[in-house]
Amino acid sequence: MDYKNITLELLVENMGIFKMLYDIVRIIDPVKKQVLDLSSGKLSPLSSCHCLWNKNKACNNCVSIRAYNENKSFDKVDYDGKKLYMLTAIPVDIRNRRVVIELLKDVTCSGIIEKIDNKNADTIYNIVNNLNNLIVQDPLTEVFNKRFLNERLPTEIKLSSENKEPLSIIMIDLDYFKKINDTYGHVLGDRILKAAARSFSNCIRKNSDWIARYGGEEFIVCLKNTNIDTAVKVAERMRKTLETIEICWENKKIHITASFGIKTILGQNIDVDSFLNEADIKLYEAKKGGRNKVVF
Ligand code: GH3
Ligand code: MG
Ligand code: MG
Repeated sequence: MDYKNITLELLVENMGIFKMLYDIVRIIDPVKKQVLDLSSGKLSPLSSCHCLWNKNKACNNCVSIRAYNENKSFDKVDYDGKKLYMLTAIPVDIRNRRVVIELLKDVTCSGIIEKIDNKNADTIYNIVNNLNNLIVQDPLTEVFNKRFLNERLPTEIKLSSENKEPLSIIMIDLDYFKKINDTYGHVLGDRILKAAARSFSNCIRKNSDWIARYGGEEFIVCLKNTNIDTAVKVAERMRKTLETIEICWENKKIHITASFGIKTILGQNIDVDSFLNEADIKLYEAKKGGRNKVVF
């Protein structure tokens, strides 16, 4: 969208009208996940944007990062434990910097969730989270999709660089998967893919790490505040766990393995493509070295 003539001064001057029309109005830096303070006439960080939702981690379906990346407005419904809000995220370029205006309207009583008064907070969180996860989840394997990876990885890199914490990614590719499909068919191929994704998910920390399907039978695991030694241990755990899984099919027991490439950064503000490429180089070495291996 073309908002070329919006200056910080114009924005500050006109925030009042938004505040009259909406219940909550805020300016966000979606990469750093911060609410920005306009009152000082500067855009200084105020708090984490996800505090509003009473979550101790960033939203999976972050429409503000989507608005920021694609320079278009996006909407979603979210819940803070008491009220349901319709959120509209609008990207605005001011002073060579893109920020996102979030406009929130209380829609608790609008019928989006039927009989909301009779439901407890956990049930409502579940309904809303399931809805929001649809857009960032891979339907077959139920891990995150490539959209999530593209939206979240830049933030992880930025935060690790600012906090001077190590960040590790593991790129995984199932071994000889074409042969599995050719031998047993795509239906079993899909079942194995699903089982592999589940076994990888079981090897990571639920609240901070995440896994996304990067391509057909390729996955990216992101391990926050994790050095290379720990990342290797996690990858080895994934490799061994997968190796022991048996998929039963017409009286046969099918086994599968995967290859793993790891890249760890510490305090580097590397771009996403280079980060992924470094892990891909290690994965290629694992394949060349005979597969069913971890290379770092
Ligand atoms: P390598 O060990 O070198 O990785 O060999 P590979 O056969 O796994 O590698 P290749 O990239 O040649 O083949 C990947 C195969 O994964 C091709 C495709 O048939 C299969 N595949 C990709 N996506 C899916 C999917 O969603 N379901 C199923 N069943 N198969 C898939
Ligand atoms: Mg592949
Ligand atoms: Mg493969």
